[in-house]
Amino acid sequence: MEIRSSGIKLASGQQSDYTIVVSPACSPSEQYAAEELQEFLKQIAGVRLPILRTPVQGPMLLVGNSPAVGELPVDIDFEALGDEGFVIKTVGPHLVLAGGRPRGTLYACYEFLDKYLGCRWFTPEVSHIPHRDTVDLPHIDYQKIPALEYRDTDYYEACEGQWAARNRLNGHFAHLQEKHGGHITYAGFVHTFNRLVPPEDYFQEHPEYFSEIDGQRTAEQAQLCLTNPDVVEIATDRVHQWLRENPQASIVSVSQNDWYGYCQCDRCRALAEHEGSQAGPILHFVNQIADNIRDEFPDVAVDTLAYQYSRKPPKHVRPRDNVIVRLCSIECCFTHPLASCDSQNNQLFSQDIRQWAEICDRLYVWDYVTDFYHFLVPFPNLHSLQPNVKFFVAHNVRGLFEEGNSSPGGEFAQLRSYLLARCLWDPDCDWEQQMDEFLQAYYGPAAQPIAEYIEMLHQKVAQDDIHLGCCESSNMLATATSAHLTEETISAADRLFDAAEAAVADNMELLARVKAARLPVQFVKIARREEFVPSQLEYRALVNQFTEIARQSGVEHMGLAYDPPDLESWLQSLSPSGGE
Ligand SMILES: [Zn+2]
Ligand SMILES: [Zn+2]
Repeated sequence: MEIRSSGIKLASGQQSDYTIVVSPACSPSEQYAAEELQEFLKQIAGVRLPILRTPVQGPMLLVGNSPAVGELPVDIDFEALGDEGFVIKTVGPHLVLAGGRPRGTLYACYEFLDKYLGCRWFTPEVSHIPHRDTVDLPHIDYQKIPALEYRDTDYYEACEGQWAARNRLNGHFAHLQEKHGGHITYAGFVHTFNRLVPPEDYFQEHPEYFSEIDGQRTAEQAQLCLTNPDVVEIATDRVHQWLRENPQASIVSVSQNDWYGYCQCDRCRALAEHEGSQAGPILHFVNQIADNIRDEFPDVAVDTLAYQYSRKPPKHVRPRDNVIVRLCSIECCFTHPLASCDSQNNQLFSQDIRQWAEICDRLYVWDYVTDFYHFLVPFPNLHSLQPNVKFFVAHNVRGLFEEGNSSPGGEFAQLRSYLLARCLWDPDCDWEQQMDEFLQAYYGPAAQPIAEYIEMLHQKVAQDDIHLGCCESSNMLATATSAHLTEETISAADRLFDAAEAAVADNMELLARVKAARLPVQFVKIARREEFVPSQLEYRALVNQFTEIARQSGVEHMGLAYDPPDLESWLQSLSPSGGE
């Protein structure tokens, strides 16, 4: 029998009757969950609740499973909650915040602070913690198991551990510690064929381990000969070694090198033809390794790529249940949602993912969220990120890696990091509201003109059906990268940023953020100087301004179009009439 509570009063007038209670056998992350709850409740209501490891007579906030939870008239199936699922539940005067291990209980506390008390962690520096004289809670009976088991981005701004935990990222890149419940760890993140069977160790004696290309065995820009049983054995041994050395790894990558050059020997060719795809030989190979490691590592999955030449699903072979297929969207247009964009690339990708979804229930996606050739080019994909996440989830995708700019200072990097984290955690979140909240908190009175700037560029790519990929031509003048950056949109952008700067002119901190957000507009003008800044004097002033802000805001890399890619080299490469 369950006692139905009508709601509880957690605190009032800087007083509270509540005690936070954890188990005597709580994990480090459950202890930390209690401390985070204590800290934020203090910021909200001005009262610091004690944390105890034994039950008390009075009302309790029960953090994590414990003997005290066992005493309550509730039945929580912790097994079914998995690694990260949790319940938030009022039981009589008590509130239970508890979930599976390792991260469920910590997430219960963050979800509670977020959903019921309005806490937001926008960036590592900017949070919103509301102050309340009285904290009343309704009757709560809430349970969540996240739709995505793996939620990752390499945006530099998203890697800070505290922030990542609070926004419930759990991937390879976030600097999460034991107190955060750790994170999903890969052994060998990607492109591992050459590390599994190193050409320098084997090619001389065994060229047959490597790709036959045009009748010639080679290890240059090549893959492995996947139908050779010795190759399976050597790769299996190496995987065992990696996993023994990385006991925290739950996924091991067995995946093609980052180029083409697949094997064309008779056996590989016949298998690929039979399967109708190069994914065929890869999956046969990966399945054997998955079988070979299952006994010693029953909880480890083998991850492989469906990428470029291997993206099309095979006709016959099916991934084992301990295999993850990571589909890569690198060819796609990102300014329109995958499922509705009329570009051929997106239609083909959508077709592939639909077919993969029929044969694999543990797909991951490697998705791309910026222009990698020009990290600072305006890349209007904010209206397609969420529809894409939903599309993935609807097609058996259980993990998402959102590749961004791993160096500081990309276009709207903080905004994208925040929205991605929110959306990976809750694919159905109210995206517009999340964005509004972020802009208000991060840009203050400049939020409105910045929102208009964002909207203007997104309308442009929608109305003119401008398709933008993440790896367009390296030439900034090419229309492919810049059809949306017309004289009209750039001058409108300048007007809006003038208004944004004026709105925060008296606040140095906000002004610095607005100026950093303006760098992409200035970058376009500098890169396309003849069109936008023919006057030498103005150009000089613009470059000086850009340089100062870019250095202050920590911009490091300009993107793959530049070699070397660092800011200082790029500045030096500008025409001598530009900089100092
Ligand atoms: Zn072969
Ligand atoms: Zn498109």
